[in-house]
Amino acid sequence: MERILESRLMNPVEPAAGDVVLVSPLTGPVVPLADVPDPVFSEGMFGDGIGIDPLVGRLVAPCDGIVMHLARTGHAVTLQTAEGAQVLVHIGIDTVELHGNGFKPKVAQGAHVHRGDLLIEFDLDVVACEARSLISVVAIANSEAFDVISRAPAGNVEAGVTPLLVLRPRASAEPAADGAWPVVTEARKSVTLAHAGGLHARPAARARQAVRAFDARVEVRFGEHKAAIESVVGLLALGAGEGATIEVVGMGHDAQQAVDAVVNELMREAPGETGEAPARQLSPAPRAAASASPATAASAGARTLVGVCAAPGVAVGTLVHWGDAEIVPPELASGSLSAESRALDKAIAAVDAELNSAVRAASQRGAIGEAGIFTMHRVLLEDPTLVDAARDLISLGKSAGFAWREAIRAQIAVLGKVEDPLLAERAADLRDLEKRVLRLLGYANTAVRTLPDEAVLAADEFTPSDLATLDRKRVTALVMARGGATSHAAIIARQAGIAALVAVGDALRTIPDGTQVVVNAGEGQLAYAPSALDIEHARSERQRLEGVREANRRTSQEAATTRDARAIEVAANIATLDDANAAVDNGADGVGLLRTELMFIHRQAAPSVEEHRQSYQAIVDALAGRTAIIRTLDVGADKEVDYLTLPPEQNPALGLRGVRLAQVRPDLLDDQLRGLVAVRPAGAVRILLPMVTDVGELVRLRARIDNFACELGRTEPIEVGVMIEVPSAALLADQLAQHADFFSIGTNDLTQYTLAMDRCQPDLAAQADGLHPAVLRLVAAAVQGAEKHGKWVGVCGALAGDPLAVPLLVGLGVTELSVDPVSVPTIKARVRNLDWQQCRQRAQDALALESAQAVRALSTAVWPLD
Ligand code: PEP
Ligand code: MG
Repeated sequence: MERILESRLMNPVEPAAGDVVLVSPLTGPVVPLADVPDPVFSEGMFGDGIGIDPLVGRLVAPCDGIVMHLARTGHAVTLQTAEGAQVLVHIGIDTVELHGNGFKPKVAQGAHVHRGDLLIEFDLDVVACEARSLISVVAIANSEAFDVISRAPAGNVEAGVTPLLVLRPRASAEPAADGAWPVVTEARKSVTLAHAGGLHARPAARARQAVRAFDARVEVRFGEHKAAIESVVGLLALGAGEGATIEVVGMGHDAQQAVDAVVNELMREAPGETGEAPARQLSPAPRAAASASPATAASAGARTLVGVCAAPGVAVGTLVHWGDAEIVPPELASGSLSAESRALDKAIAAVDAELNSAVRAASQRGAIGEAGIFTMHRVLLEDPTLVDAARDLISLGKSAGFAWREAIRAQIAVLGKVEDPLLAERAADLRDLEKRVLRLLGYANTAVRTLPDEAVLAADEFTPSDLATLDRKRVTALVMARGGATSHAAIIARQAGIAALVAVGDALRTIPDGTQVVVNAGEGQLAYAPSALDIEHARSERQRLEGVREANRRTSQEAATTRDARAIEVAANIATLDDANAAVDNGADGVGLLRTELMFIHRQAAPSVEEHRQSYQAIVDALAGRTAIIRTLDVGADKEVDYLTLPPEQNPALGLRGVRLAQVRPDLLDDQLRGLVAVRPAGAVRILLPMVTDVGELVRLRARIDNFACELGRTEPIEVGVMIEVPSAALLADQLAQHADFFSIGTNDLTQYTLAMDRCQPDLAAQADGLHPAVLRLVAAAVQGAEKHGKWVGVCGALAGDPLAVPLLVGLGVTELSVDPVSVPTIKARVRNLDWQQCRQRAQDALALESAQAVRALSTAVWPLD
């Protein structure tokens, strides 16, 4: 290490092997990072570093390394050193808006450079006049891996000469096994795309995700064209179809692993992904069909369209065709370039947060297809091709809204040039993102303002962002020509208490705007031109249902007991602290399932023991004395977390998921268990283990938990339960019950594994019914096994929230039902209307039936819905 550099640094320290010494890349006075006039830098968002106010328009390399990234506009460059430090040098503030004006890069991306080499020449006068500030920044982009242990004091520094910063790798950033730090390498691999659709969006998104785990930049080349792995739109626009041979090129420390990971992802056909059928167009669930009751059937004079119930309820109102009214923002900016640029950043960040919540909510409900759609939207939203194009337009004086709309439309046009019908779906995704961002920029769709009172909104299909802006007080029902009962729009409607009918068909378009209609979603009917009597009936039915809902809410804080005094705990399935509060508000008796994998889903690093403890403690505190059943990490199969790249598997649903993950990453489970046993008060938490197959697994995990509790000096026992979601666990329930304190049946997976029907496969959605007698027999077996040893059984799969399933589950001996927080009042009310003895008898009858439809019919006949 070069000792000559020490004396000029503040807090000079003895540099050690592996430390990185950076000389100043610019000439001028040093500015502390905190004084850099841009919070993005001064608050350390780009990493630790230092500012310089340049007096000379020459930027030189502060160290030896490779040019990892050179901004297209020439205003910033990132070098990667052999030790792995990523050093960003950014000239001026908001200089991206200069659109390259005044900057002359002297190197190319990928070049090997030496300390002092000229990287960028820039015109000081131009930058000084046009940029917000000339103050430039040297920041360590991977500050999580390097500490700045010494920095230059106040005063002038000279480019290529004066020492500026000394970086020391953090202890956790392990050197290679031979003790040397890995060197930057390049790797290439050619692959021929074998599966239908070629390079399509989801593999592209997965590949982009896989690369994040590695320290490398990767691009895909096809013929003359290339695209960075970060740009899904760019990858799609390559137009590499089935049979095309592409080349994957990586550069950086982990180039080879990154290239391998990308190739794996591009070649892997995930379940349900063949041909990438639009996930929104689920076939309507047949079970929603029901005949109209005499009380609410439309009169003979009224004409009726039939659809599928997506959200129950009865409504009378005026039909309004929502249309896809365009939002047209003004072309020219009203604020400064930086104000427009910041407005766009803010809107994009807000949309990302919205989408993140949508992904969580959908994942929590087990609506994996839907979660996938929103995950894809998030990927597109941060696509650098889009964002860069919008910024370029802003720099030409366009408004943020106009720039965003144009950038999106340009990409839609690019996709349109590729002859691939699958890309039509991606174009629709881009259009949805266009609308979402424009709305958050404050532009509205004028149709929203002209709604009549009691509007029944009609559309081919609503997007979630359509619904985000609705004046919910005016909208009384939603009707869609297409769509599915599990679409996100349907979920939003259910949560907002708005009746919704889907899959009504094209005839919907023929009903003129302004027609009076009656919607009875529960019965799957839209009546238009109804008689006065139809309207009266519908209004009184609506009032009755509202009364029921209100009454359920009023009693939701009370316990749920059947008429013959069988107590049933109604708990909530949650994934966040907000959910915990919602559970308490809705009267949940506790938390029956905390899906911890969703709490940390978008983290880039696995949570520490302390982070685990704090997150669970906050939830326990919010529950104010209620118990929380906290499930250990259940990643794998359809659930992925950002911080973990799982090895590719042929059949991930049958692979390393749930507790099996501990076979390859025991550290992840250990950290979580340590955090869990530390939560106070003792007894507030019960631990639930997912995907247990047999007693050996349970005994081993229990011993681990006991050890961790012991290490902490904890003397109180901790309850450990087992998810019953694998058929073997149900069949061996009596053995498991000897070692477990309770069972919680995961009917989502138990149904999938019993019926051999992928829970993500939309075409099987209607058949993969948890009320199938085969699933019910396994529920019965689990309860019998538990009862032998005096243990209790709950259900936390979606079946627990299905009013037709509730009497049967209770009749089979289940004593806890864990459901979405908003469903707690309804399920409690349902329990209170049951007679346990009758439930027991009828549940035995159900076990002898031959199909899920027959079970549903039995339940409907004995326990009609409200
Ligand atoms: C289930 O499988 O029913 C369950 C509750 O777990 P998850 O939906 O999270 O897999
Ligand atoms: Mg499960």
